[in-house]
Amino acid sequence: MAPNTTECSKLITGCIACGKQNGLLQCSQCKVVHFCGQEHQRKYWPEHKIVCKKIGKARKELEVKQKNARDTMTDMMGIDAASIMGRKADGNHRREQLRLAGQILEIPTHVAVETALDHMIDLRNLPISSNCDVLEMVASCLIRLGRD
Ligand SMILES: [Zn+2]
Ligand SMILES: [Zn+2]
Repeated sequence: MAPNTTECSKLITGCIACGKQNGLLQCSQCKVVHFCGQEHQRKYWPEHKIVCKKIGKARKELEVKQKNARDTMTDMMGIDAASIMGRKADGNHRREQLRLAGQILEIPTHVAVETALDHMIDLRNLPISSNCDVLEMVASCLIRLGRD
């Protein structure tokens, strides 16, 4: 049984190559794709590598920027202020986080949509106006996950 990977199809929950549910390995770079073993990991890699590398890079950039923002704030205000302000600092990286969520959504797996949703819910809670695009993405994720 080959999984259907077109956009509006059901999300894949097992091995992305064959749909098997047991003994899965997680892709270490994007963390949103699973394989039943090295054979399917190798077989699927040519198809997966472009988006996988994009996600890995976007995630790394976001993490570095969030860490730098926290470090800067720790230097300026001391550790306690930094932990309180940490969440606000993340708001400066909204664009990076949104881009990461968008790239994760290119992968039609259940865990990918869940992960993207977590990022977007994070963004939605930030005190920033014009969050319409985020709300729209959240709504479409919820539909894909079968929730309303
Ligand atoms: Zn497989
Ligand atoms: Zn991957």
